[in-house]
Amino acid sequence: MATALLAWWEEHGRRDPALKPWLFSKDGRWPDPDEPLGFYGCWIAEVMLQQTQLSVVLPYWQRWMEAFPSLEALASASLQQVRLQWQGLGYYSRARRLHEAAQAIQATSWPRDLQGWQALPGIGRTTAGGILSSAINAPEAILDGNVRRVLARLRAHPTPPARDQALFWQWSEALLDRPRSRDFNQALMDLGATVCTPRHLNCQCCPWKGDCAAYASGDPTRWPVTDDRKPLPFQVIGVGVVLNESGEVLIDQRLEEGLLGGLWEFPGGKLEHGETIAECIVRELREELAIEVRVGEALISIEHAYSHKKLRFEVHLCTWLSGDPQPLASQQVRWVRPGDLGDYPFPAANARIIDALLGRLGESVQAGGNRDAA
Ligand code: SF4
Repeated sequence: MATALLAWWEEHGRRDPALKPWLFSKDGRWPDPDEPLGFYGCWIAEVMLQQTQLSVVLPYWQRWMEAFPSLEALASASLQQVRLQWQGLGYYSRARRLHEAAQAIQATSWPRDLQGWQALPGIGRTTAGGILSSAINAPEAILDGNVRRVLARLRAHPTPPARDQALFWQWSEALLDRPRSRDFNQALMDLGATVCTPRHLNCQCCPWKGDCAAYASGDPTRWPVTDDRKPLPFQVIGVGVVLNESGEVLIDQRLEEGLLGGLWEFPGGKLEHGETIAECIVRELREELAIEVRVGEALISIEHAYSHKKLRFEVHLCTWLSGDPQPLASQQVRWVRPGDLGDYPFPAANARIIDALLGRLGESVQAGGNRDAA
């Protein structure tokens, strides 16, 4: 099966320096099995690919390598600079862990086995296997979402893969072409990403269709089997974009732990039963920042889905009335000029709030200018 897969990959795989530049030698060749690549580029790519598709990762990886071209550059950067480079990629704890791991590696040396990599923050077994097979062709298997789907279909596995992790690891190891683990793992991922896709499969082009129980069943989309999904919980969040007399806007930095830890945001919180949006914003800003505000016009309404919940942000412009802002539920608070908001890493939904705010402020300046001219 490995031979058939590798033959397919030689012809149809995503073996393109424009798609996976970290896997090519300095002179632009696909490396021979005994030719090592730098750990740094492979490590950054594998961490970015943990929850994110290749097409999204590529421009981030390229910008990252320009901003932090080496382990030393990453280890000596500030956490804020690292988060700014990560902004928009999601699952933000990955950025903090990369930074921590860079400092740990710099203090020791590059790990060369699974245990060494898994001892670093943010590195699980499949990421460690991906880095080791990519960089030094070490005979380590991988088991990411693509691989799990392919294996579940090959065996028409009757239960969700997450419940049988050990078995799926055994299968991935049994299939691995050890002398060509770099090529094999890439081939397996490419098969999952381009042929054995979640919905629009192309079994006719698959090198494994003769070995595949799901294909034989006539309806391969029945695998992998999933647990029945409950609908995602939905919450409304009232958000205040608070401006002071100098035209500065108030932002706070989230606590390090938890979702979006360490990123900046506009203050606000969950709407409680029976509350209006304005009442929610007044209460949240009083509880979290010890300030009083007057809630003004709506700025923007944004729906955003995370993996475990859906949120709708109702964002209003607010005027600061009294109280020195205190970080009662955050790391720190800061008044900043709207034009300087780009210096702070924000989650995706907040980035849209910034665009709306800058657009609104631009309009009011323009309206003021027209009135003056009139
Ligand atoms: S034959 Fe179809 S279902 Fe089976 S591994 Fe290939 S693409 Fe996936």
